[in-house]
Amino acid sequence: MARMSERVMPLLDRRRAAPAVAGPPLARAPEGVLTDTLGRPLRDLRISVTDRCNFRCSYCMPKHIFDHEHRYLPHSALLSFEEITRLTRQFVAHGVQKIRLTGGEPLLRKNIETLIEQLAALRTPQGQPLDITLTTNGSLLARKAAALKAAGLKRVTVSLDGLDDAVFRSMNDVDFPVAEVLRGIEAAAAAGLGPIKVNMVVKRGTNEQEILPMARHFKGSGIVLRFIEYMDVGSSNGWRMDQVLPSAELVQRIANELPLLPLEATAAGETAERWGYADASGQHDPDAGEIGVISSVTQAFCRDCNRARLSTEGQLYLCLFASQGHDLRRLLRTEASDAQIASAIAALWQRRSERYSEQRAGLAPATSSTGRRIEMSYIGG
Ligand code: SAM
Ligand code: SF4
Ligand code: SF4
Repeated sequence: MARMSERVMPLLDRRRAAPAVAGPPLARAPEGVLTDTLGRPLRDLRISVTDRCNFRCSYCMPKHIFDHEHRYLPHSALLSFEEITRLTRQFVAHGVQKIRLTGGEPLLRKNIETLIEQLAALRTPQGQPLDITLTTNGSLLARKAAALKAAGLKRVTVSLDGLDDAVFRSMNDVDFPVAEVLRGIEAAAAAGLGPIKVNMVVKRGTNEQEILPMARHFKGSGIVLRFIEYMDVGSSNGWRMDQVLPSAELVQRIANELPLLPLEATAAGETAERWGYADASGQHDPDAGEIGVISSVTQAFCRDCNRARLSTEGQLYLCLFASQGHDLRRLLRTEASDAQIASAIAALWQRRSERYSEQRAGLAPATSSTGRRIEMSYIGG
């Protein structure tokens, strides 16, 4: 077996290779709205607060790669809470209204409540508080829900890939019981962290038998269950197209038992397509609620993509499938002024042309060679 010092993961190579923000920052003061080359505004910032996780979901951090020899980022590489807040302030000045904390498992980051408090104090140029949400595997939620709410967190999204305990334990691959995640969801609801969303990644041949039990369980609960197509994100999960269960097929399977009808999107840039449960007269029954499907593989939704991603060590990614980030930490740590940071963010977003999903689907010509992709656990979902 390779000694720890000899083993260098390709993932680490890629992280190190991320370039500094190119060129001198432009002189451009934030105007509250910033658009990229396709006219897409910057509205949503996803912040990864840790590259560590206590689960080993095979589609994200497979055990054979993220094993005891894997080198996680050292603490000094992580953005501090003050650095995250300072950067976020500049993003907000450019029009970001929604913040999603993610990871890795964000609840593993020590004192995450302190970061939430700092972010909750920020205001948009219109004086509004931010919509602050967090995506979690739910394992620590029962313990932390009340403190997260008190710190200013608005909502949570909990990932849950099945209700059957054996299936769930094998999906998380650390033998974690499903009952504990369900307890976490209850605690989040009791703490007022709603409306809660539950994300289920569907892998054909692995957890597809859980689709209907999950739909039945959450129907009428006030919780929106969202099914995510298994994505070819990163390079370590051995993704294959035949393991993707297309959303259209999934909706049909549910509708065969629980009639559904399509609902309008509530906001531009929304990732999920909404389907409402129908009542006996074929109308949407609001008490029964709705599901969402996120068809990242079979239906491109780049046209309205307003999301930027900040990695744990301060690399800005303009697309989930980008192979390179832009080093904002270097700016922070070389004493750039707020105005320079704001200008650098503006210059990057205004040059943005990424639309990977459309290119994969053949709806747009490929514009760049993507190289090895960055892992989901590194930049967050
Ligand atoms: N650990 C937290 C969690 O699992 O909710 C937050 C980080 S996780 C990377 C964010 C989301 O990405 C989760 O909902 C997870 O299911 C999803 N995800 C990870 N890898 C994926 C893949 N290959 N395809 C689709 N979704 C994926
Ligand atoms: Fe961890 Fe979330 Fe990735 Fe699963 S999806 S391994 S819980 S970061
Ligand atoms: Fe946005 Fe990139 Fe996903 Fe398209 S592929 S929706 S640009 S993150």
